[in-house]
Amino acid sequence: MLRVAVVGSGPSGCYTAQSLVQRDPGVHVDVLDRLPCPYGLVRYGVAPDHEKIKSLQGALRTVLEHERVRFLGGVPVGPGGVPADRLRRLYHAVVYCVGAATDRRLGIPGEDLPGSWPATGFVSWYSAHPDAADAGYVQGGVRSAVVIGVGNVAVDVVRMLARGAAELTGTDIPEAALGALAASRVREIHMVGRRGPSQARFTTRELRELGGLPDTDVLVDPAEAALDPAYRDPAALPAGPRRNVEAVRGFATAPATGAARRIRLRFFLRPVELLPRGGRVGAVRFERTAPDGHGGVTGTGRYEDIEARLVLRSVGYRGVPVAGLPFDATSGTVPHLAGRVLGEGGGVVPGVYVAGWIKRGPTGVIGTNRPCAKETVTSLLADAPVLIRAEPPGDPLPALRAEGVRPVPWAGWRAIERAEAELGGRLGRGVVKLPDWESLLRAAGAASG
Ligand code: NAP
Repeated sequence: MLRVAVVGSGPSGCYTAQSLVQRDPGVHVDVLDRLPCPYGLVRYGVAPDHEKIKSLQGALRTVLEHERVRFLGGVPVGPGGVPADRLRRLYHAVVYCVGAATDRRLGIPGEDLPGSWPATGFVSWYSAHPDAADAGYVQGGVRSAVVIGVGNVAVDVVRMLARGAAELTGTDIPEAALGALAASRVREIHMVGRRGPSQARFTTRELRELGGLPDTDVLVDPAEAALDPAYRDPAALPAGPRRNVEAVRGFATAPATGAARRIRLRFFLRPVELLPRGGRVGAVRFERTAPDGHGGVTGTGRYEDIEARLVLRSVGYRGVPVAGLPFDATSGTVPHLAGRVLGEGGGVVPGVYVAGWIKRGPTGVIGTNRPCAKETVTSLLADAPVLIRAEPPGDPLPALRAEGVRPVPWAGWRAIERAEAELGGRLGRGVVKLPDWESLLRAAGAASG
């Protein structure tokens, strides 16, 4: 029997476990997660109103319920949890699928003013991540918001800011976030890219969805968009950017309807400073940019201030170092060769692997993790004849408990699901997520005994 620990139960962890048990009948996998809940960014990143993408949890559930896969929640690996070298000794191999846990920084003055937050924190809050708190995102008199960046996370947060209570009540959004967003007075949302429409990172389906939001206009200044040479003649572009440009042109030519909310899609503006007003951010100063002819932009020395009491910086996720593993600080990834972790000297670290965003960086859609996991599993199974020679001590569970962790088994997670259904029932809604550690662990403990 080959015992493998997969650290992280998001899509990359689940696809790794799936590939391992499908391809080798002798493999047993423990999927560890520091949270008592599985599914990583599918649970804590996909927006609540994207029910179709969330339904992927059904496929991931099948993996975690496989007879040779065991989910162990509430098991942190690294400082404060199970030391990485200890974990390595309990299994024949360890695969880290820990994603990219933090946000990229802008590195400009005023970035940390109250009212300026990473979009990743806002996403965690409306997704009920137990480490997320309400930073007062849409509190009081916030009427205008700026979202910096034009990727899919930016589109998600813009959409969530523009949605009304009626559209969110039927989702699993936690009650406090629903209440705050329902009371929100944000009417003007600027989504701002530093380059042109043909270089935006969002996907067309996500962009078009903004146009379908009730009582919301999506506004584009055609002259600003046309600074992008490809805007006037998108035919030569690859399919993705071409469809994006066509969608942007559609918004630019549609007349405003006088809707209650406005999403202003802006281009060729790079943030240079956040300006304070009354102890909170008051505006973002942007420098107007121009295409440099090589896909980048240059500054023009002309500036524009956009008023905003809420700024969400949506400029990408970033991997954080994994204790005990080498780390490339430039890319925010663990150096590897086809998933085999490479040590300081460039040699392979035996029995240690990576898959997902910590391997290739925070790009691609959920499905991109499938071939990525397969590549890692191919490497691991090729190494198996050597790995299996070092026999680890029996079932790792007692040793994990001896490290002071209290693993939440699958039955504990199922109990959390039941508690979330019951909570929703009491509130007259569908399933409603539990948003804090205490209620999650209480619900899980009721089943785990
Ligand atoms: P992303 O796709 O990398 O987009 C980041 C955006 O930030 C880009 O517009 C980038 O512009 C901009 N940016 C970076 N540094 C900047 C700076 N210093 N100043 C101004 N703008 C800056 O990242 P993401 O939106 O976080 O998404 C991460 C991944 O998750 C993506 O693969 C995404 O598709 C995926 N995702 C998918 C969905 C979905 O399918 N529904 C939902 C959410 C996330 P430049 O291009 O100029 O660098």
